[in-house]
Amino acid sequence: MILYAVLMMVVLGAILGLGLGIADKYLKVEVDKRVEMVTSLLPGYNCGGCGFPGCSGMAEALVDKSMDTILCKPCKAEKKAEIITYLKETPGPDGSTITLKG
Ligand code: SF4
Repeated sequence: MILYAVLMMVVLGAILGLGLGIADKYLKVEVDKRVEMVTSLLPGYNCGGCGFPGCSGMAEALVDKSMDTILCKPCKAEKKAEIITYLKETPGPDGSTITLKG
């Protein structure tokens, strides 16, 4: 009886593992790696001063082109320039780059 229970657990684990493997392959969401980089260049205060709930929201808006200006007041000028240069020189998954106003 115990052997039967162990066998059922192994079979169930294999089936669920296979399901998770298939879901990982076909249901994954492509993430633009530039969002992570821009987020790391922003101050990280998550103060909401830019109108977004946190720095990652501001970074996503810059990368998805819904914003063309870095509205972060605490961000120093050299960091803003670094973000502008990074997005201008780094193509996204579709091969396009982003030109920000400032
Ligand atoms: S204003 Fe700057 S520091 Fe504050 S949440 Fe926006 S990006 Fe982050």
